[in-house]
Amino acid sequence: MKYIFVTGGVVSSLGKGLAGASLGTLLEHRGLRVTMQKLDPYLNVDPGTMNPLQHGEVYVLADGAETDLDLGHYERFTKCVLTRENNLTSGQVYETVLSNERRGDYLGKTVQVIPHITDEIKRRIRSFENAGNADILITEIGGTTGDIEGLPFLEAIRQFILQVGHENAILIHVTLVPFIKAAGELKTKPTQQSVAKLREIGLQPEILVCRTEMPLEADVREKLSLYCNVSLDAVIEARDVENSIYEFPLMLQEEGLDEKVCRLLRLETPPADMEGWKRIVHSIVHPTHRTTIAVVGKYVELQDAYKSIYEALCHAGGANDCGVDLKIVDAEEIEIDGADKHLAGVSGILVPGGFGDRGTEGKIAAARYAREKGIPYFGICLGMQIASIEFARNACVLEGANSTEFDPKTPHPVIALLDEQVDVTEKGGSMRLGAWPALIKPGSKSHEAYGHTEIAERHRHRYEFNSAYRERMEAKGLLIAGTSPNGSLVEIIELKDHPWYVAVQFHPEFLSKPETPHPLFRDFIKAAMGR
Ligand code: GLN
Repeated sequence: MKYIFVTGGVVSSLGKGLAGASLGTLLEHRGLRVTMQKLDPYLNVDPGTMNPLQHGEVYVLADGAETDLDLGHYERFTKCVLTRENNLTSGQVYETVLSNERRGDYLGKTVQVIPHITDEIKRRIRSFENAGNADILITEIGGTTGDIEGLPFLEAIRQFILQVGHENAILIHVTLVPFIKAAGELKTKPTQQSVAKLREIGLQPEILVCRTEMPLEADVREKLSLYCNVSLDAVIEARDVENSIYEFPLMLQEEGLDEKVCRLLRLETPPADMEGWKRIVHSIVHPTHRTTIAVVGKYVELQDAYKSIYEALCHAGGANDCGVDLKIVDAEEIEIDGADKHLAGVSGILVPGGFGDRGTEGKIAAARYAREKGIPYFGICLGMQIASIEFARNACVLEGANSTEFDPKTPHPVIALLDEQVDVTEKGGSMRLGAWPALIKPGSKSHEAYGHTEIAERHRHRYEFNSAYRERMEAKGLLIAGTSPNGSLVEIIELKDHPWYVAVQFHPEFLSKPETPHPLFRDFIKAAMGR
């Protein structure tokens, strides 16, 4: 197995995850089998309990792991199927080492960061070799070079590269080359210092991926090469993409990144055939039509909080030859001004997942607006619960209907905890998580989209549609379009008399890729275009 490590320098948010994922795409298109891993230096065991406004969305894997959003990039850009092994945090490393210590595994020894923590990190990097289903592992290290908390990871990598040899493992450093307006120049010093920091601890990157607003001229490339001790053809320019992140692999290919990687790792393959990828990018970047979709949420300030949803909308646009203009609406603003002020004129309304009651009344007003005005509506997880509450209150006249998450004393708990969740007090990893099968009702909009009746979709929620209200709601025109295989849990609701109103208890956005857009997102956009 060959190993590629990706570190980041100078600042955070450089798109290391995207760079790694893009390299993964290129290597796959050269016929190699790739898997990807993220090492996060923070102490949380997983990001499941972190605020999306701080950390971005929590990406859920098929096996139920709650992971960093970069794993979403990995799954969207490559064919790899990720599991909880693919996202390692310091918290998990320490948890393992400490429970080994309690069991007596290190009896007599002093347990230390070096070698015990670093050995455990190396073991987790190595673990992919035995699975035997990939030729290359791309491992991204979260954080920025120079962070104290990242040091054990970097030390583990230094040892690892030494042990497997430079022809089997390389280091790529993603860095910033800022343009200083006043000087009219690109500056290489931050990168030089960041690489010096790596060399101090015995790591020498073989490749520099330079994020920059301006083209890297020959003299800048030479400087970077000479002072960072990296060969000239390994200084890769990564300019901000103009239209779509899916252009990124194409840009890196032009710069020769995958070629260089293969040469360093002694991999002989034909060049990557990116024609199919180019066609998809073209359909995303140059659509014939346009439509406006309102996303009504509460984590609206941060682009990353609904990352997978925005990506899935983009893929669905590509499939319909339609550009999707997003109108990000803060649900609390709807509470102040009413739905019409913010939603008039949009062609579709999407209410995404969420937790806690802030903004829920605004989302309920948005769902009502969509139902009454015949605007295509797509509810996801909380968005499905919101739609159920709205329908119960306004179509079934169940006054005060609510979820017990927002109002524990509601007279009509149309969304409530299942018995097995009532006594759960731990917050971490205790929700209904991961891929679960569901059955779809023939003839429904969902059936039309999927084209079959058996599906499996990823979940991340605690509350459920309360079956005690099923009949009353069905009598008023709600369609239970999908359930768990034994029929007990409601997975999808639709409205019978509406152009397209579909709300799902799961997270379809996690299964959408540019080449294979999710069928529900695809049909939602199609319905919006029909308006
Ligand atoms: N807060 C809701 C629940 O726990 C919805 C969760 C979500 O949207 N992911 O059931």
